[in-house]
Amino acid sequence: MKTENQKQDITPVINIDKIKLTQKESYNALLSGNREWVNKRLKDDPDYFKKLSKGQSPEVLWIGCSDSRVPANEVTNTQPGEVFVHRNIANVCAHSDMNMLSVLDYAVNVLKVKHVIVAGHYGCGGVAAALSNKQFGLIDNWLRHIKDVYRLHSHELDRITDHETKVNRLVELNVVEQAYNLCKTTIIQNAWKERTDLEVHGWIVDINTGLVKDLKVTNNDSQNLGYVYELDLAANGAH
Ligand SMILES: [Zn+2]
Repeated sequence: MKTENQKQDITPVINIDKIKLTQKESYNALLSGNREWVNKRLKDDPDYFKKLSKGQSPEVLWIGCSDSRVPANEVTNTQPGEVFVHRNIANVCAHSDMNMLSVLDYAVNVLKVKHVIVAGHYGCGGVAAALSNKQFGLIDNWLRHIKDVYRLHSHELDRITDHETKVNRLVELNVVEQAYNLCKTTIIQNAWKERTDLEVHGWIVDINTGLVKDLKVTNNDSQNLGYVYELDLAANGAH
């Protein structure tokens, strides 16, 4: 029978037992890694987790890329409890994304963070994919947000011939536009009417050096959002 032949063809190439073993190893490594981390923390401070469990008061909201090479705490050398984090592919801030808006609202209005940082990174796979015309599946709809950024800046980007330079410039422009998107939300605009200690920033992490580049697009009031986006104070006074 044909199925018998197929079995014979497949068996020498894929060793299921070996795969299972590798999967088990990488999974167990996470659990033993966790125990090592707990032991190290307790060695430094026996009350570490007792203190951590009391609550959080981070001053920073990090909105970064899901890429495994740009973890917020490691990049900023901060500890658990110091940075509230939201990550998605290519650090997109879409005003219709309930997940992002919920994180932003909680961070701004409950935790009262002082800094909201949109953090992109050079060599971003999501941004590179958005630059191509290939179909990748469902993600194409998410990457559309980045294609829209391209369209806004096509006069500049069309002139760049080197592919890597073009990806990295779009990475920067994407961060600028996503930070701007945050500023346009009712959440940020209403917060700015109530307090002066809230800043929105745009950063790039250079994964070749580990260093952060501040794009200097920091904003702390609604005045320069433009007449289309600047909103009046809500009728009930705030939000
Ligand atoms: Zn990325």
